[in-house]
Amino acid sequence: MKKIIENFISEIDKKNSHEPEFMQAVREIAETVLPYIVSKDIYHGKNILMRMVEPERVLMFRVNWVDDNGEIQVNRGYRVQMNSAIGPYKGGLRFHPTVNLSILKFLALEQVFKNSLTTLPMGAGKGGSDFDPKGKSDAEVMRFCQSFMTELYRYIGPNTDVPAGDIGVGGREIGYMFGQYKKLKKEFTGVLTGKGLSWGGSLIRPEATGYGTVYFAENMMNHVSKTIKGKTVIISGSGNVAQYAAEKCIQLSAKVISMSDSSGTIYDKDGIDSEKLSFIMNLKNIKRGRIHEYVKKYPNATFLKNKTPWEIPCDIALPCATQNELNEHDAKILIKNGCICVSEGANMPCEPEAIIVFKINKILYAPGKASNAGGVAVSGLEMAQNSLRYSWSREEVDSKLKEIMKDIHNSCLTHGQEKDYVNYEKGANIAGFIKVADAMLAQGVV
Ligand code: NDP
Repeated sequence: MKKIIENFISEIDKKNSHEPEFMQAVREIAETVLPYIVSKDIYHGKNILMRMVEPERVLMFRVNWVDDNGEIQVNRGYRVQMNSAIGPYKGGLRFHPTVNLSILKFLALEQVFKNSLTTLPMGAGKGGSDFDPKGKSDAEVMRFCQSFMTELYRYIGPNTDVPAGDIGVGGREIGYMFGQYKKLKKEFTGVLTGKGLSWGGSLIRPEATGYGTVYFAENMMNHVSKTIKGKTVIISGSGNVAQYAAEKCIQLSAKVISMSDSSGTIYDKDGIDSEKLSFIMNLKNIKRGRIHEYVKKYPNATFLKNKTPWEIPCDIALPCATQNELNEHDAKILIKNGCICVSEGANMPCEPEAIIVFKINKILYAPGKASNAGGVAVSGLEMAQNSLRYSWSREEVDSKLKEIMKDIHNSCLTHGQEKDYVNYEKGANIAGFIKVADAMLAQGVV
């Protein structure tokens, strides 16, 4: 089996060796899915995984815009339309200076499996730009978003491709892009998710990824007769996913003692309560400030400059910032300090060596494609509400989200149970694979 996997990886590597994040995601999937394919006649010999890791289409385009000083800026825009076997392409847009094709292809590939796991009819895509919204005025962000959409609008639509937010793309950016799409197409339609409530958005969509990550952690804990209640939690990031993961932990009576951004980590041993979290939300979402400002307001807390939170002792760790933010060394420290559960809010935040450490030590570990699927699931519910021209209540959406996270957990159990240990990574990959593979086989070689 090892040889089959290595041959497969080296075949993909021939065309993609300059894309390390994409190759990392391919390897992670191949190691669990190829043995399954080989064991099943219906999938074996059909080159199905080879087809799945090749994007259906990749769009790359120039985005010109004028900054507040009247200077012309040039950025690069992308949309990776990865797989449409089970529905329109669906996945976020990321605006961050590190964005490149490797990162977007890894995210789009993860999205194939994640969207399948939600059981909703969504294909997979991902896109974005190397534009950095940080430090830009609202007017600059608006002009960039309008220019970006002036090209992207040709390739998307409610039945074709429905982008959403990701790092650097929140309600403000979705609003500007939706406005431009509407103007160009002359139609009011559910082409983006994460919209404002008064113009087609769904209740709970901003909260969904963070809440879902915590619901998934609670499902894992319950499965081993434990609960989040009373546990100490560390969270990386202080953006959309991190904020609502913290909110749900607080609601479930856990103690959140740490959050971070790319400049460092805050450690508040007294716990970040609802009032302190409101301060963080205001600081990051309205003032667009830096996390170290927390310690000026709450001097009992400390700021660990340029540090991640992983050295702080905890029961549960929720990496909610970015890819490859937790390495083998961090994983060993987490285990040494008594961590029993890691639920990924971000996409691929744990390096492969870190995941091995979690598995060897048999702690609860959920890959993002399962644990952070709540965001795209509620995006799917937003699409359904847009089609119905109807809005469900907060309670209705939240209960559907809870149900979906529970179903994803059950799918992971079905395919990931190994003697006395649940391999959630294997379970998520195989469960996600089956639905997409069946659809691809039924639709022929296209
Ligand atoms: P935001 O832009 O709202 O927040 C990102 C947070 O991560 C910020 O605190 C940011 O700090 C920090 N961060 C970003 N890059 C780095 C870096 N290189 N090193 C350290 N910290 C960093 O993004 P989201 O919260 O939406 O997304 C976070 C993660 O969750 C991503 O991996 C995304 O793909 C994933 N995700 C998001 C979903 C969503 O619905 N939004 C859905 C599913 C997954 P700073 O402000 O300093 O940049």
